Amino acid sequence: MRTSIWDLIFLVGFIAYTGIRGVFKQRTAKVKSVARRLDAVEKALLALVIPGSLLWPLLYLFTPWLRFADYELPLFFPWVGLVMMVGSLWLFYRSHADLGRQWSVTLELREDHRLIKQGVYRRMRHPMYASIWLWCIAQGLLLANWLAGWYALVAFAVMYFIRTPREERMLCEAFGAEYVEYMSQTGRLFPRRRRKSGE
Ligand code: SAH
Repeated sequence: MRTSIWDLIFLVGFIAYTGIRGVFKQRTAKVKSVARRLDAVEKALLALVIPGSLLWPLLYLFTPWLRFADYELPLFFPWVGLVMMVGSLWLFYRSHADLGRQWSVTLELREDHRLIKQGVYRRMRHPMYASIWLWCIAQGLLLANWLAGWYALVAFAVMYFIRTPREERMLCEAFGAEYVEYMSQTGRLFPRRRRKSGE
């Protein structure tokens, strides 16, 4: 097992990250789904992102198999990675908590699905994806290995750019004018200041 301080910090964050996911997965397990877009594209995206993002870091941390892809990083980078990791974990937790029973790992509409526009969803539409971007960059900065460090970022970038328009189309169909108005008031990944008075 690797025992450098940055690898151990990553491991703690990784446990927190998968723990947050696990808790919310359990909480939403019983909420019925009324529409599910688990088509071939969605399945391919999940297959690209999930196993690789979990497997490479674990192989890197607990086996010597990925040594061939190691490199040296100046100390400045993992420090930046640590700050990003803490921010990512906070946003990851908040977005799950604010989305509540609406959350799902794939594109789905739950029974009595509400459009969430408060909390971290107030000024941006995809805070959870923003947190995953941050997480993936933090992973690259903390783990000095091309595969374990950067695979997740490349895989998630592919998922983000294909999935987000599909998700927004689904929510537009479900919520119509309400979602269109919400889109006009929010940024995708970066918070946008609302223009209306009283906000
Ligand atoms: N893209 C969002 C949510 C990711 S979870 C984010 O990055 O924060 C994916 C599920 O969230 C989808 O099945 C979709 O139905 C649901 N969803 C996305 N935005 C929502 C919103 N503002 N209100 C309610 N549900 C939403």
